[in-house]
Amino acid sequence: MAIEDDVLVIGGGLAGMTAALAAAREGAGVRVVSHKESTLRSASGLVDVLGYPPERAPGSASGDADPGASVRGEDENADPAARSRRERAADGPLVDPFEAIPDLPESHPYRRVGVEGVRDALDLFDDAVGDRYRGGHTDRNALVPTHGGRIKPTARYPASAAAGLASDDRPALLVGFETVTDFDAPLAAAHLESAGVPFAARGVTVRFPGGFRADARLTRFADALDSNERVEIGGSGGSYTESLPAREALAEVVKDRLRGEQRVGFPALLGQHDAAGVRESLEAELGAAVFEVPMGPPSLPGLRLEGALVSACRDAGVRFSTGNPVVGYETATGPGGDGEIAAVRVDRNGASVPFHAESFVLATGGLVGKGIDSDREGVKEPIFDCHVSHPSDRYDWFEDETFGDHPFARFGVETDDDLRPLDSRGALEFPNLRACGAVLGGYDFAAEKSGAGVSLATGRAAGLAAAREGLEA
Ligand SMILES: Cc1cc2nc3c(=O)[nH]c(=O)nc-3n(C[C@H](O)[C@H](O)[C@H](O)COP(=O)(O)OP(=O)(O)OC[C@H]3O[C@@H](n4cnc5c(N)ncnc54)[C@H](O)[C@@H]3O)c2cc1C
Repeated sequence: MAIEDDVLVIGGGLAGMTAALAAAREGAGVRVVSHKESTLRSASGLVDVLGYPPERAPGSASGDADPGASVRGEDENADPAARSRRERAADGPLVDPFEAIPDLPESHPYRRVGVEGVRDALDLFDDAVGDRYRGGHTDRNALVPTHGGRIKPTARYPASAAAGLASDDRPALLVGFETVTDFDAPLAAAHLESAGVPFAARGVTVRFPGGFRADARLTRFADALDSNERVEIGGSGGSYTESLPAREALAEVVKDRLRGEQRVGFPALLGQHDAAGVRESLEAELGAAVFEVPMGPPSLPGLRLEGALVSACRDAGVRFSTGNPVVGYETATGPGGDGEIAAVRVDRNGASVPFHAESFVLATGGLVGKGIDSDREGVKEPIFDCHVSHPSDRYDWFEDETFGDHPFARFGVETDDDLRPLDSRGALEFPNLRACGAVLGGYDFAAEKSGAGVSLATGRAAGLAAAREGLEA
């Protein structure tokens, strides 16, 4: 049976789901075809809009010089040290990302959607995730501590990170676990203090209560806290004397280490399905605010965000076909065909299945998601072979410095203002194809801290345009 939709979105990451949600809420029949996991599962779960303008972004260490200065509101006339800190902060993170968007290079994806497009996309995001996220009350970047003890400027952060903001002057205890080696709490606390945050930070490393394997994944701890399963505690030399619910047992371990701190930060493993409930229980037991510090893969905040967006999409009527890749396409033939895409072909165990639609959205990610691929021949977009501009000499793709301004980070599809991919001559590749998210070129998400913001803003715009086209047809 032929599968036919108004809009077909290829890729189920942040950009694809945003496009699908925007299109479905316009009334279009929408399907998402996605193959493998998206980068949401590795990303921190923070939604960066613009942390650094591109010209200051490479080697963004300068941005961390004094993150506290921009949020402390110091009187520089009264305090020369504050003035010097403020001068350094001028090279640091952007206070207001929206102010900087009009000055971005013309090739930047934000220039396709404009400041209002970014704001509208954040509104859509806020509506979809509800009280799971914070930051919508202000245009200013929030400063969120990372697991390495750096400070990340970001526009939206999970509610679980809210009590940890670097603009908060309450003393903080960071708690790491012996077997969760990605988070060295004493080192992270030392980094935060040397970065000049306006609060006292101390870090301790403890053993997660219970007989968990040394190689247990973060999700195992999250499950134990979600279900509040009983864990064995006490005793010495590996013997256990009693068992307690996991939340209480964890609080018991941490209580002994508190020295009057008013907030306690844990690596982001405090529950997957009932994160708010876990935090609430720990706060009640500890008598202190509790926050999560975003971690690397597998990212619990990223997984929670993915779950929230899938629910929002399903509520809006979006259909998902997952697990099989789009490998090619068919164009419309005959009069009026006009080079439009009529269907994409999905590989199902060697069989090529056509999925028809009126309008298509390419949201297959960048070099990480394989939406952009490179081989000996060069850099390409593998499904539609959309043009990806890049130097022919591979030595020109990189800079010698590790944290330099690497051209490859900006490789991707270029589009017109309606997000339709352009060929090498600047003509439309296909009239009914739009591209969004990390498959787009012209920005370096890691250096400028704009990854999720670009996916949201271009995803929404691509979804709306595709819906308009799909419904008109
Ligand atoms: C390690 C890491 C940390 C990050 N941290 C942050 C952060 O802290 N803050 C921030 O704002 N941003 C961060 N980002 C960036 C941000 O996560 C990405 O820019 C954004 O999520 C990209 O979304 P996307 O939907 O464009 O692409 P992706 O998330 O890559 O999704 C693309 C999807 O398309 C699928 N796909 C690809 N090819 C096909 C095909 N042929 N057929 C069907 N499906 C296909 C892929 O399997 C994938 O599911 C981080 C990224 C990484 C990698």
